[in-house]
Amino acid sequence: MENFLAITFAGEIPQNKSGESGGIHWLWHEQGILELVPVQPTGRSLVLSCAIHGNETAPVEMVDKLLKNLFAGRQPLSWRVLVILGNPQALAQNKRYLKHDLNRLFGGRWQQIAAGDETVRTAQLERAVSNFFAAGDERRWHLDLHTAIRGSHHLRFGVLPMRAQPWDEQFLEWLGDAGLEALVFHQAPGGTFTHYTCEAFDALSCTLELGKALPFGTNDLSQFRQTSGALAALLAGEPFSASQTAPLRYRVVQQLTRHSEAFTLYMSPKTLNFTPFPAGTVLAEDSGERYVVQREQEYVLFPNPDVAIGLRAGLMLEKMS
Ligand code: ZN
Repeated sequence: MENFLAITFAGEIPQNKSGESGGIHWLWHEQGILELVPVQPTGRSLVLSCAIHGNETAPVEMVDKLLKNLFAGRQPLSWRVLVILGNPQALAQNKRYLKHDLNRLFGGRWQQIAAGDETVRTAQLERAVSNFFAAGDERRWHLDLHTAIRGSHHLRFGVLPMRAQPWDEQFLEWLGDAGLEALVFHQAPGGTFTHYTCEAFDALSCTLELGKALPFGTNDLSQFRQTSGALAALLAGEPFSASQTAPLRYRVVQQLTRHSEAFTLYMSPKTLNFTPFPAGTVLAEDSGERYVVQREQEYVLFPNPDVAIGLRAGLMLEKMS
């Protein structure tokens, strides 16, 4: 299964759907879905996903390299891992998505729109994850690797779904060791892959934003070295401390939603993620609706006025003390 990426690109079904490489048992489930099982039984289960957005290629290169190391016997494995290349069709066309943003469809939201490539794929991914997480899991993690559309005041950051229970500090610490400079905590449910795994399976889930989206071959992989190193150590079951300062913490305080064609966002297309705006600033307007900064200072994340009607055009954050 050394050529998992190539097989996924080609949409091929491999002749052998399971096997052993580098002391690792692997099971090919469906296009872009590969399970790895270590020799020693373990209760640690990790979903490692990338290319949920097809144009975010750096994490795909990172995962491909990790798989090559695993299958060559160079990378020890102490977790069960479900490797997912989220949207292979969009990946092959270097597009964020074909018709619908996959990362808005999870938690059954795919059932509310007309069936298409992405609704079918979301259903497949939900099924794959629910088959993967086992009853005896002592630890469940989900790391969903992305790159952001725009530049950012924090080069790498994590977005964590709403969670009823408190977060495991060890998990948050690992995210800091993986090079994340900031952690953003959602306060409301959403259609993201990480919200789904956290809510449905009580997984510790994080969407990792690792720099800017660029085409294959043009990624500066040195920017991802710390994250790759932390991931390799995690899988090996070895400690990894990058002795970084702890990531800054933000919580989401309001969402800008494009409700109609009249939606106008008062930000330059070059606005960086985590740009601060003072109290009273009018951020956006829609028919009969105004979005204004309520707190002393709010920071914008993922501003994008071009989303489909009804979807998120940006998030506003406040720093947590
Ligand atoms: Zn993304």
